[in-house]
Amino acid sequence: MKCQSCKSGNMSPSTTTYFADLKNCMIIIKNVPCMKCEQCGDVLYSASVTERLYELMEKAESLASELTVIEYDKIA
Ligand SMILES: [Zn+2]
Repeated sequence: MKCQSCKSGNMSPSTTTYFADLKNCMIIIKNVPCMKCEQCGDVLYSASVTERLYELMEKAESLASELTVIEYDKIA
């Protein structure tokens, strides 16, 4: 699988930290599984991971905390 951004790097399985800057809070989700470009570091998420990120963000938003740090694997 080739990178969509630089067109030459290889995408390989990795984990990353996802940042979301929402209206009234910041959310950091650690250890998110992704495909990462070995060359430019561009990151792609699968559809199921994206879905879960949105779920986690909704949950974090409902906590109404200014900054929420969560681990991808920890919340069911
Ligand atoms: Zn790339």
